Amino acid sequence: MFRRLATGLTLGVLSLVAPLSSTGLGHSPVALASPSSPSLPRLGDRGDVVRSLQKALIAAGVNVPGGADGIFGRGTQGAVRTFQESVGLPATGEVDEITGHLLGLAPAPTLPTLGQRGDAVRSLQQALIDAGVNVRGGADGIFGNATAAAIKTFQTARKLSSTGVVDVRTAIALRILPVTKSSTPSTPPTSTTSEAKARTLAKVGDRGEKVVVLQKALIAAGVNVRGGADGIFGNATTSALRTYQETVGLAANGRLDDPTAQLLGLVEAPERPRRGDSGDSVRSVQKKLIDLGFRIAGGADGDFGSATSRAISAFQRERGFEETGKLDLRTYGVLMASKSGSATTDTGSTPTPTPVADGPATPVAIFPTQGPCWFTDTWHAPRSGGRVHQGVDIIAATGRAVYAVADGTITRVFFDRPGSLGGNAVRLTAADGTYFHYAHFSKFGEGIEVGSKVKVGQVIGYVGSTGSSSTPHLHFEYHPKGGAAVNPYPIVKAINGCQNTELLTPSASETSSAD
Ligand SMILES: [Zn+2]
Repeated sequence: MFRRLATGLTLGVLSLVAPLSSTGLGHSPVALASPSSPSLPRLGDRGDVVRSLQKALIAAGVNVPGGADGIFGRGTQGAVRTFQESVGLPATGEVDEITGHLLGLAPAPTLPTLGQRGDAVRSLQQALIDAGVNVRGGADGIFGNATAAAIKTFQTARKLSSTGVVDVRTAIALRILPVTKSSTPSTPPTSTTSEAKARTLAKVGDRGEKVVVLQKALIAAGVNVRGGADGIFGNATTSALRTYQETVGLAANGRLDDPTAQLLGLVEAPERPRRGDSGDSVRSVQKKLIDLGFRIAGGADGDFGSATSRAISAFQRERGFEETGKLDLRTYGVLMASKSGSATTDTGSTPTPTPVADGPATPVAIFPTQGPCWFTDTWHAPRSGGRVHQGVDIIAATGRAVYAVADGTITRVFFDRPGSLGGNAVRLTAADGTYFHYAHFSKFGEGIEVGSKVKVGQVIGYVGSTGSSSTPHLHFEYHPKGGAAVNPYPIVKAINGCQNTELLTPSASETSSAD
């Protein structure tokens, strides 16, 4: 049964890294607007253009409250946001050029092409470099053969068609898409290069515009950056970041992690639950509050009412924030980044010495969870009992699928029990001894037991919060060649599948002769 899933690999991976293909959006059947009339609807609009938008959203599988009623209200705005999240675009709720294009309502955006020169090309090259692809000659702003070759390498790695041409899907994967108003469809992407660059977070040792953007944001926040916005991420910038983090109440690690970048306005702010909301996102907040010692009458029931507001107020009071009872960006960022000591945990797995084979270790082939999800670098963060964190914690709702990231065998299965650290957990071991440790499952994948052979993309479990965990998340460790754990954060960050919300569905029509 499971073995037959093997062949879903190609399709599964495609739908994972390129959600467009799984929704058919790249070739939407609802071609509703002529490419020559790219006037896209906005909030408050009424009429046929809005109806076209709503129909396109519905065709893309997004729920539009009220249906295609021709009125662009908050419901439609929310539906646009959901769509944008599902394809990996910033969830603005506005029908910009790219969103319109993906919905079949607007022509393709202007993207860099072979022979072109300038800032747009430089942004493209920088994005490739940031994604770990070597660009011969560096970010020189010239789109020649070296850049085309680098694009091909990137496309191959992401299982996109390896054309060397920057199509929309490649641009989304590289996060270089300009999100501009539809009224200026011919504007070259140069006007938004700083925004695009900022989406790849600067780190120590980096130089260039994205560091300038960070430094300017710090200065705007009232933090002194020695040397000013010089574009060099050295000790002065690290120290300024630490000062900023201390000021706002985040862990002062001196790194531009996701919560810090969100508070500085360098990346999209996460969706935050509001009073009256209900569901898993509310439950995550409630669990976090409870875990930090704030009482909520009714517990983590998933309903954001007055009890939750009061607990948020109490948290804000403790941190010296304004007591609003609301999850503003700062409250949310600091709350969710707060560690309770037992918040998330290493799972007590011990590296097993294994004979080391030649060649590179089995890689992490795909992102380990179904989105939406969220994660930061918590490598070697302190944990209870003097331990340090050996993996990455991917925060996702209970029940989201967890995938095998490589072909291999389930070699250990741990069951949740009182006092357990990892709760329901498994170890997946590849042929070369490389193993992956997954923890805190709410339940195991169908038929998963010691000895199960699994294939990349197969569901081996579901996100949960079993064991020592306060928030539903996947704890994921990577032990190349069976040795000590290495930091999986940059690896999963490079794949970044959090925007892939659709379940991988290995194709049943294809069959496999494999084992
Ligand atoms: Zn963990």
